[in-house]
Amino acid sequence: MARAYSFPEPQRTALLSGWGRTSPTRAEVLAPASAAELTAALADPPARGMVARGLGRSYGDAAQRAGGRVVDLTGLTDVELDVETGECRVRAGTSIDTVLRVLVPRGYFVPVTPGTRFVTLGGAIAADIHGKNHHRHGSFGSHVTSMVLRTADGERRVIGPHAEASLYWATVGGMGLTGVIEEVTFQAQPITSSRLVVLAERTTNLSDSIARLIELDREAEYTVAWLDLAAGGAGAGRSVITSGRFARPEELPRRWSDRPFAFDPGLPVDVPVTPPPVVLNPVSIRAFNEVWYRKAPRRPKQVINSIPTFFHPLDLLGSWNRIYGPNGFLQWQCVVPDTATDVLAGIMRQFTQTGGRSFLTVLKRLGPGNQAPLSFPTAGWTLAVDVPVGDPDLPRLLDRLDEQVAEAGGRIYLAKDARMRPELLPVMYPRLDDWREVRASVDPRGVFRSDLSERLGLT
Ligand SMILES: Cc1cc2nc3c(=O)[nH]c(=O)nc-3n(C[C@H](O)[C@H](O)[C@H](O)COP(=O)(O)OP(=O)(O)OC[C@H]3O[C@@H](n4cnc5c(N)ncnc54)[C@H](O)[C@@H]3O)c2cc1C
Repeated sequence: MARAYSFPEPQRTALLSGWGRTSPTRAEVLAPASAAELTAALADPPARGMVARGLGRSYGDAAQRAGGRVVDLTGLTDVELDVETGECRVRAGTSIDTVLRVLVPRGYFVPVTPGTRFVTLGGAIAADIHGKNHHRHGSFGSHVTSMVLRTADGERRVIGPHAEASLYWATVGGMGLTGVIEEVTFQAQPITSSRLVVLAERTTNLSDSIARLIELDREAEYTVAWLDLAAGGAGAGRSVITSGRFARPEELPRRWSDRPFAFDPGLPVDVPVTPPPVVLNPVSIRAFNEVWYRKAPRRPKQVINSIPTFFHPLDLLGSWNRIYGPNGFLQWQCVVPDTATDVLAGIMRQFTQTGGRSFLTVLKRLGPGNQAPLSFPTAGWTLAVDVPVGDPDLPRLLDRLDEQVAEAGGRIYLAKDARMRPELLPVMYPRLDDWREVRASVDPRGVFRSDLSERLGLT
């Protein structure tokens, strides 16, 4: 095939890792800045395969390919919004941050946002991301009307829930293994202002946290609990719950009432150095958790928050992933069915017994999942725990927890995984073979491959 564009030789190689900074590998990186350059970047795939990469916010090895090619999509950005209908068309390398800067001042929001604005739309669909409103609105894949997918045969296919539906659902949550998403059209959500009415409260133990989250899911658009994993005994599972909805203009304080859709998230401040592991020890983490918990109001308290404060507080610090020290960290995220609260309690107890070394532990109740065979969200409780790498007992603990999750009918989130054992994959994702069939039909030679797909034997 004649190439309209070519990349200068020798091509750039780079050492790439996920957000957790574990398992870096080297690949040839091509960063197309136009559709024609994307065509060139996808031509002549190397023997070890290739995979797309967005902003590298998946925690493990999903967006890297050792000895192969990584196609960096972040140069392909553009947002078009139909202000009448809320239909939004973007190039897949556009970040949610950029999309929000267009949408919010015009009275719209993304249907689903993760805990960071710095993910691309391609990455959002490939991981079928969920947010604080999953119990109401499901995951991102349920809000896409169509997208353009570049498949291994060089085709540019327009797919969606009503066009090549099986390929569409295999791409949603498909971790970049069906092809490269070039363009996405989704339905934006109208909002009444750019501020949120937020209820913050603290709970005293796990059953209290669970009961309150169930109650709040009936009332609130957005809910999430930050859990104090360092607390054991009677306080095990205590949490700070925040729930909210977008404020109506008349609810805004006077200083914002003349600019109801103002959105100025500012720029993140970088963490200047990688702190030594000693900064992060059980004592400092326990102290942090204690202060955070005590800071929250004892009784429910209503406040008005901005979008960044409510949805993306971690984005205030750039590269905060370095806080966990030079060895990097893992985020272990599972979901277990609604009824498996005893399994949930057991998992938390095992983390606490090994030192509860996590600043960030999040508990959220998910609603029903969608049709995508590899999509993570499914009805039940999702728990996400950040753990620094280095403790020699950690691998055994996480393997044990994976087994408990699988046995309970739950699963691990692939966008966060960096170490799971492959034999659990078909147990956790029982429709894996359906997905493999669709994937094999569009990529019979296995052009799209990642370190994650090789490690887990996904394809
Ligand atoms: C602080 C933080 C908070 C988070 N909170 C949440 C949360 O609340 N909910 C949630 O669901 N997730 C959450 N995540 C995870 C994150 O949303 C996903 O990992 C997402 O996929 C990252 O997008 P990215 O653009 O960085 O993609 P990358 O990490 O670069 O890639 C992720 C996967 O997407 C594929 N991919 C990327 N672009 C394309 C494309 N154009 N075409 C095809 N495949 C592509 C890659 O091949 C890879 O498999 C969080 C991550 C961080 C760091």
